[in-house]
Amino acid sequence: MAPATDDDLAALAALCAEVEACTLCELHATRTRAVPGEGDPSSDLMFVGEAPGYHEDQQGRPFVGQAGKLLEQLLAAIGLTRGQVFIANVLKSRPPNNRDPRPEEIAACQPYLWRQIELIKPKVICTLGNHATKLLTGDPAGITRVHGRPQATEINGVGLYLYPIFHPAAALYTPAMLTTLKEDFQRLPELLAHAAPQAGSAAPPAAERPAWRPAGAPPAPADPGPPAKEPRPPQDAVPASPAGTTGDVPQTAHPDVADAPPAKPEQLGLF
Ligand code: URA
Repeated sequence: MAPATDDDLAALAALCAEVEACTLCELHATRTRAVPGEGDPSSDLMFVGEAPGYHEDQQGRPFVGQAGKLLEQLLAAIGLTRGQVFIANVLKSRPPNNRDPRPEEIAACQPYLWRQIELIKPKVICTLGNHATKLLTGDPAGITRVHGRPQATEINGVGLYLYPIFHPAAALYTPAMLTTLKEDFQRLPELLAHAAPQAGSAAPPAAERPAWRPAGAPPAPADPGPPAKEPRPPQDAVPASPAGTTGDVPQTAHPDVADAPPAKPEQLGLF
């Protein structure tokens, strides 16, 4: 991974302040806090969800509810913590009652996400669910059709793989989706290893760096707390045992990207 420069970090902090003061769409009037995103600004891996839910809106942090817990379990199963990746959303403000993002809200917020990608320069972006996937691929194909298939692309001059997967909140309530999400997640290390390392880049292991958080953000709580937004699960649905996730997913060591031998996507069976 290429370490974020001081200029990148300063630009990211400025962007965060801009997001927190943003009034570009009407969501600013109903939000408690904007949720710019957080994590390792030098990470090769970025996650993009849909929009903050109740708890994210309260705390100003992405994925701090049940969906976030599942995301953390999935990450743990491939040897990563949330502090080692960067987590953001399509929308930086919560839509009232967790309704779907509106096209004009997505359009207003998109430049923030694009700038984050430009500054973080991830090699892989996991798009979580339909909204993130459609926005970043620029394709109306739904997540059910495209999940688990990496797509090489370029965003703001950054060459990367998009890797669409089911949204963890949806998987919480649909066992078949959870199974597929776990399977897709297991292929992430291989994809990260395949993504070209940048020559000569040397960064301390992410575990040794404090996760980047917006200036003024409260310290990360040890316990992410009770459920956040769940995207319209059936009212009487029973969660698909997210607590068992870590045990169910085979443990895979996170590869050192710099040591990964070059391989063609076809050889990896990724396409
Ligand atoms: N769902 C999302 O899409 N984003 C969050 O931050 C939390 C739940």
